[in-house]
Amino acid sequence: MFDYLIVGAGFAGSVIAERLARGANKKVLLVDRRNHIGGNAYDCFDDHGILIHKYGPHIFHTASKEVFDYLSRFTDWRQYQHRVLAWVDGQLVPIPINLDTINQLYGLNLNSFELDEWFASRAEKKEICKTSEDVVVSKIGRELYEKFFRGYTRKQWGLDPSELDAQVTARVPTRTNRDDRYFTDAYQAMPKFGFTRMFEKMLDHPNITVLLKADYRDVKNWAPYRELIFTGPVDEYFDNCYGKLPYRCLEFKHETLNKEWAQPVAVINYPNDYTYTRVTEFKHLTGQEHQKTSLVYEFSRAEGDPYYPIPRAENAELYKQYAALAEQTPNVHFVGRLATYKYYNMDQVVAQALTTFAKLVGKTRQEATELKTDSRITRIHVPMQAELVPLNGNGNGHSHGPGNGSRNGNGNGNGHGRGKNGNGSNGHAPKRRGRVSVAEALGINGGSNGERV
Ligand code: FAD
Ligand code: UDP
Repeated sequence: MFDYLIVGAGFAGSVIAERLARGANKKVLLVDRRNHIGGNAYDCFDDHGILIHKYGPHIFHTASKEVFDYLSRFTDWRQYQHRVLAWVDGQLVPIPINLDTINQLYGLNLNSFELDEWFASRAEKKEICKTSEDVVVSKIGRELYEKFFRGYTRKQWGLDPSELDAQVTARVPTRTNRDDRYFTDAYQAMPKFGFTRMFEKMLDHPNITVLLKADYRDVKNWAPYRELIFTGPVDEYFDNCYGKLPYRCLEFKHETLNKEWAQPVAVINYPNDYTYTRVTEFKHLTGQEHQKTSLVYEFSRAEGDPYYPIPRAENAELYKQYAALAEQTPNVHFVGRLATYKYYNMDQVVAQALTTFAKLVGKTRQEATELKTDSRITRIHVPMQAELVPLNGNGNGHSHGPGNGSRNGNGNGNGHGRGKNGNGSNGHAPKRRGRVSVAEALGINGGSNGERV
């Protein structure tokens, strides 16, 4: 019997799994339908040995010392300040718009005070800034809005900025100084050995069992657990009973070039040209040295896997209905970007997960984050390359391929180090291959026959 079934091994699910296991001595089954841990922050080595972010560029930044200190338990850091350029009027200029952006674009030589006045003379007065258009034109005027924001936003969201909440474009500030960093948070860094390695360390605990390529809809029929943490799309959990919540989807095109560098900074935004929104060159983020270089192009789509909740009033209304239903559902807790339908960054999801854990154990967040216990059970070993079959052996139409039942997400050949049990060389891991029952793999009493106990 597991104390918790956690659906989704991204930041939300992994942080709660770590805290429940290490902080509250709970036994946790963490499942993800993908073949890896880390959720959208997953990174891996591509065929050329370059560390890439499979689901687009992820840069860690936070104002919260608490969040930074918590994650620092699982990783060392590489100091990194993110810089982005935008391709506008045939030039590469800094975004967020700053003093250099304007001087370069308009051939001017303004100072900060003059730029303040320059913006003011172009800004359109707005009583209330409700939309993503309002928030930009009220600060810098319509011309810059059209050069930098309107096209990018239409491409990214399939909507005009006037149809989106102010919070979307408000993520990108405007500056009158020469600061060309994308973020100004006190803590900005990349996990020294990548996000996936950080997740592996987080989840390396005897109370945590990880099952990959395992969808909640299948697992719930046989996994014995007391409470559920759900980090997938909230509407999906409730079978879209109030209708589908809109999400924006992405398609990623990865490419490796036979030269050392392709662009001067990690990310170049293309507000007005091409069908992609931005191009990322990973080595800038990771600091890796390599003769070749890998890039990703992001194409925004209406259909596909959900990546972004779409912040606008009618969607917030629909989400409210799901949030009320979630509130009334006993022993199920919804956490994360898709489960709470919030346009959250990684650090915000970590903070939200820590808060949820604190509520579960009835402590303040600070107390809960500091909790540490000895483990009460022995390590559950899930054999490497075991093909998991349901208890009664006749299956439910869902097949699991080899290597998907491993702990620590190490069966995916991503070049990351294997977890403790992955190589069978530490004395705990018998080198088993072939079919084993789910119950056997998880150390669940075989007599339960898939029913909750
Ligand atoms: P996810 O990472 O989405 O994890 C949810 C997991 O649940 C997924 O792995 C999914 O497979 C699994 N799941 C869902 N349903 C089921 C089911 N039924 N059964 C089993 N498993 C299921 N944030 C930053 O701070 N900095 C950045 O630079 C940044 N860049 C980003 C770039 C892009 C392109 C995107 C899309 C997001 C970016 N973010 C960034 C946001 C960041 O990705 C999220 O805040 C964070 O990863 C959310 O974590 P999560 O655990 O809530 O969700
Ligand atoms: N945005 C824009 N032009 C840019 C950068 C951002 O119009 O050059 C707008 C766009 O609507 C985008 C939003 O600001 O979706 C937030 O940008 P951010 O870079 O934070 O997006 P994310 O990294 O979350 O995709």
